[in-house]
Amino acid sequence: MFLIMGFTQGRKDFDINQLMSCTLCGAYGSFKVFMTYTVLSLFFIPTFKWGKKYYVETTCCHALYELDPEVGKRIANGENIEIRQEDLTKVMDGQSSVKVCQSCGYMTGEDFEYCPKCGSRF
Ligand SMILES: [Zn+2]
Ligand SMILES: [Zn+2]
Repeated sequence: MFLIMGFTQGRKDFDINQLMSCTLCGAYGSFKVFMTYTVLSLFFIPTFKWGKKYYVETTCCHALYELDPEVGKRIANGENIEIRQEDLTKVMDGQSSVKVCQSCGYMTGEDFEYCPKCGSRF
């Protein structure tokens, strides 16, 4: 007899949408919380889960943070707790297209074709 073993990466989304004003892009968005883990399957039946990691994604610019595991566990247990900036470690910057004006250095996350400050084309 031999065992058929497999490792798969799982992901679970939590039903939490905490409104916040983003410190990265300045827009109003919300935090989406999810968890990733590794599953060991025996005979295609998931048996063990480990390596749980909790992440927070912003809905505005899709930046990714790693969430403090203690906070993540409490959220997984259904507690309604507030996610604070101190609980987050940035993993990835947002993918919002921040435009920088070549002539005056004005920065904007809006989809302007011309700089609202000096009128140059972006
Ligand atoms: Zn943002
Ligand atoms: Zn400009």
